[in-house]
Amino acid sequence: MAKIELLRAREILDSRGNPTVEVEISTKHCKERAMVPSGASTGTHEAWELRDGDDKRFKGKGVLKAVKNVNEIIAPKLMGMDCVNQKELDKLMIDLDGTENKAKLGANAILGVSMAVARAAAAENELELYEHLADLSDNMTYVLPVPSMNVINGGMHAGNKLNIQEFMILPVGADNFKHATQICSELYGELKTIIKDAYGKDAINVGDEGGFAPPLAKTEDALDLLMKAIKKSGYENEVKLGMDCAASEFYKNGKYEIDGAKLDGIKLVEKYTRLVKKYPIISIEDPFAEDDFKNFSILTREIGESVQIVGDDLLVTNVKRINMAIREKAANALLLKVNQIGTVTEAIAAAKLSMKNKMGVMVSHRSGETEDSFIADLAVGLKAGQIKSGAPCRSERTAKYNRLIRIEEELEKNCRYAGSEFRQPWLIKVQKKNIISD
Ligand code: PEP
Ligand code: MG
Repeated sequence: MAKIELLRAREILDSRGNPTVEVEISTKHCKERAMVPSGASTGTHEAWELRDGDDKRFKGKGVLKAVKNVNEIIAPKLMGMDCVNQKELDKLMIDLDGTENKAKLGANAILGVSMAVARAAAAENELELYEHLADLSDNMTYVLPVPSMNVINGGMHAGNKLNIQEFMILPVGADNFKHATQICSELYGELKTIIKDAYGKDAINVGDEGGFAPPLAKTEDALDLLMKAIKKSGYENEVKLGMDCAASEFYKNGKYEIDGAKLDGIKLVEKYTRLVKKYPIISIEDPFAEDDFKNFSILTREIGESVQIVGDDLLVTNVKRINMAIREKAANALLLKVNQIGTVTEAIAAAKLSMKNKMGVMVSHRSGETEDSFIADLAVGLKAGQIKSGAPCRSERTAKYNRLIRIEEELEKNCRYAGSEFRQPWLIKVQKKNIISD
């Protein structure tokens, strides 16, 4: 038995300079810690991130209440329990909270403990974290994920006028994960030069996720820039494109306000369909607002055979919402963010439900991150095949990619890169239709 001997939280800073929760755990043989990320374009159905709301500290963003909840409510209950019982400990915290969305103790408090418990259990079992998470997920093989690297930032993550939040590159044709990072880094460098030449030095400042935030206003301007960079870097055959529209942010009064127009759902379906024909886009996340199941379903019916339609704010890593989407055929992939649901056990359940229903799973960071690379291990442990962790730039982003480089090296021949299998049926079709060079 690996008894929890110490469990305590503290307030630290995230990548935006905002407070977040760190949890430390000790057993007889180990001392581990976990840090909790935080979103900006958060879905209203996400689990509750508890902030102090007291204007004197951090303009209300302090997390001392969540810290107190760990130290004074959760820790006394968990102390002395066996850290290898992830499910049991997560359930205990869910029950202790007692609300539907973890509003009482805070999902940030609960998740910090849940992740720290997973780390301690891995250490106690003398396993790498990804091995332990694979055990918890009943996964027998290791797959290194295709990274979706966000290289142009807009929406809530940048100070420009782009409505689409993330323009991502997916190196599906890389030989392995390390090669994938090289491709993305080289392409990112080309993009930097192109942006600097076109818009000057000011334009190469980066947004929250490390992508550039050039002074562009239209979706196609950003996609054209990316195409130029892909061509210049010589990676036409290796790289495809993805977008996170985060459409809840530009949904106003029943219309989608994008690229200077006010579109209804059907017009927006047509716009995405045009974009997919013109550019090698294989993944579109949150193309509609978080409760617009109807238009999600229409788009999935129209282009879901050839394009991955990813639900982020739509699904919030919550099995209830995923079941709704399965019923309505509203998406064919899940964006998996651990802090949207608040425990490792529930995040694994969300991934497994999605996989069982033949949906893709993309493990994701948040725009407010820390140096914790937990999601890298989670992507491998779950055999998700996809991860997004921002640009190949800024240490809170590269921490995850660098961890994956290490995992790949450690596993040597006992793993494979998901690039080839990532070309699932819906992806193969688009690859035939849209070759980057045409
Ligand atoms: C996202 O929307 O996918 C994202 C990572 O941003 P945020 O963390 O701000 O929700
Ligand atoms: Mg998103």
